[in-house]
Amino acid sequence: MLEIKNLNVSLEEEEKQILKGVDLTVEAGKVHAIMGPNGSGKSTLSYVLAGRDGYEVTDGSATLDGTDLLDLEPEERAAEGLFLAFQYPVEIPGVGNMTFLRTAVNAQRKARGEEELNAAEFLKLVRAKAASLKIDADMLKRPVNVGFSGGEKKRNEILQMAMLEPKMCILDETDSGLDVDAMKLVAEGVNALRDEGRAFLVITHYQRLLDHIKPDVVHIMADGRIVKTGGPELALEVEENGYGDILAAVA
Ligand code: ADP
Ligand code: MG
Ligand code: MG
Repeated sequence: MLEIKNLNVSLEEEEKQILKGVDLTVEAGKVHAIMGPNGSGKSTLSYVLAGRDGYEVTDGSATLDGTDLLDLEPEERAAEGLFLAFQYPVEIPGVGNMTFLRTAVNAQRKARGEEELNAAEFLKLVRAKAASLKIDADMLKRPVNVGFSGGEKKRNEILQMAMLEPKMCILDETDSGLDVDAMKLVAEGVNALRDEGRAFLVITHYQRLLDHIKPDVVHIMADGRIVKTGGPELALEVEENGYGDILAAVA
């Protein structure tokens, strides 16, 4: 589904290479986790996949179901089925959450050549999805993320994901700043969306999220590359011993 080969990325502003040959393949139906020390390039990888400005791809490729992602605009990547939940969800004052979701869903349907949802159809869908994620209907009426608690923002991102039904979901530290209950809700939201036709890349600093979202594969990223790949036991090893031993072994 997602195939990243020898991805090299530098900052546009200054001459600084951040990703130094990332190789990663995520198959449909799988959940892959990426762990790694702060500053190893995990967020940069997700930003580059999303198409955020400020980064220059100097080598390598990234494809989604064979489609070259790096040539596409961010909204085209979304239409292809890529979804990113960010570490710091943006607040959009003046734009109602409901309006935002409807615009996003219909833009995506249009890009896919599907019929747009009318107001009644959309309302029915969003209410059902919100209820299944235990999201208060009140949250739908407020401006996007404005004044939301950390937990509410993350849940709202999971709601966006549930509404868009992407095939490749990337969650960048969606667990940071969450209390245990909010983290469980996020995990439940993800687990409810697990499907043979969908894959997840879960970037996390902590093993605890992976207690709730059981990954099939765990990667360790350090200094701009994937330095080790294993099963769920790799996350437990990190939890117990930190990154020291793993990094020393590959240095
Ligand atoms: P992680 O998410 O693994 O903590 P990041 O991708 O956020 O790592 O950062 C990787 C490295 O790139 C860090 O050293 C960080 O300081 C640097 N970096 C990322 N984006 C920028 C930027 N826009 N300007 C300067 N340095 C950046
Ligand atoms: Mg990060
Ligand atoms: Mg651009």
